[in-house]
Amino acid sequence: MDIDVRPLLSGSNSKLDFSFEIPLEYNKNSYRIYKPVYVSGAVTDRGGLMILDAECRVEYETECARCLKKLSGTCNISFSRPLAVKLESENEDEEYLLIDDSGTVNIDRAVTEELLLSLPYRSLCKEDCKGLCPVCGCDKNEKDCGCVVKRTDPRWDILKSLRDK
Ligand SMILES: [Zn+2]
Ligand SMILES: [Zn+2]
Repeated sequence: MDIDVRPLLSGSNSKLDFSFEIPLEYNKNSYRIYKPVYVSGAVTDRGGLMILDAECRVEYETECARCLKKLSGTCNISFSRPLAVKLESENEDEEYLLIDDSGTVNIDRAVTEELLLSLPYRSLCKEDCKGLCPVCGCDKNEKDCGCVVKRTDPRWDILKSLRDK
């Protein structure tokens, strides 16, 4: 979505509020997003420097890292970035959101990048999820199958592999 910042550039305004949705489809690292991102915030002129403050919210689906139960969650983030007028000679600084010739700035990429970086590393259905039985595959949260899981000490594996050589 483009934000028209000309009122700030001309000095007729010192703050622009915005809110909109950005369509996003994502299916990676066990996260699925197919609902739009809700973004709201403001661009403010702070003594000549324009700063964007944005709050973003998106719903995602994933599964428990232990028992694979389907889960849904919401990721909420807020971030701030300075804005700069794009100059041809200037090196592109990743941090700045660039204002194009028509006086607008597009923040879609910044929003989706910030959001995807903020997805949790993994999700659990509950803190103490017991996961799936490695022997019979049942959900150990629902029943105690009583399977005996042989625990081998990984240090013995190393010794064994040395001996086998
Ligand atoms: Zn679980
Ligand atoms: Zn089992």
